[in-house]
Amino acid sequence: MYLLKIFLRAVALPLTRFPARPQLPPALQAPKTALKPVPAIPFLSSFFSLRANSESQAEMAPPPDNRSEDEWRAVLSPEQFRILRQKGTERPGTGEYDSHYPPEGVYSCAGCNAPLYKATHKFKSGCGWPAYFDSIPGAVTRHVDNSFGMERTEITCTNCGGHLGHVFKGEGFPTPTDERHCVNSISLKFTEGVAEGAKAKA
Ligand SMILES: [Zn+2]
Repeated sequence: MYLLKIFLRAVALPLTRFPARPQLPPALQAPKTALKPVPAIPFLSSFFSLRANSESQAEMAPPPDNRSEDEWRAVLSPEQFRILRQKGTERPGTGEYDSHYPPEGVYSCAGCNAPLYKATHKFKSGCGWPAYFDSIPGAVTRHVDNSFGMERTEITCTNCGGHLGHVFKGEGFPTPTDERHCVNSISLKFTEGVAEGAKAKA
């Protein structure tokens, strides 16, 4: 009987102590709860960037003209490759189309020839690069660009993904959109009067 008592006490001791334990752990649990928000922050930021992308980017899928880097190198000049495929920027005031204001015509992608802008979209911005207030519908795709510690909107050719430049909004230019597509001349190729719908004049 006595042995049984001892046995029960031995078993009961941890059992009766156990309910008291939850009072100790708060200190132990504190780091756990403190850790929780940490993984929550990257989760939230990835959520927001995902949201920002889906709003301003047509899609993440590869563009229709999905040539490899080597294939682009074969058809582009080194400077065209640097800007179109590696998102470079030409020096301001140096581009072929900076001060180019034909009454009509089309600026197409220098990489894949997709028509991007009409001559009638072009305006004088004084920024040193060709500026357009609008593009041919669907021809230009927007992406969030967080490089250089700022948030900008990159524009690419929808057909081949070639880098064109950036688009800026609300600068106060007297244009119908108050947007400025700031495009590298080298990303463009001008053709006189061969717009869709302009064939009758050609
Ligand atoms: Zn293109």
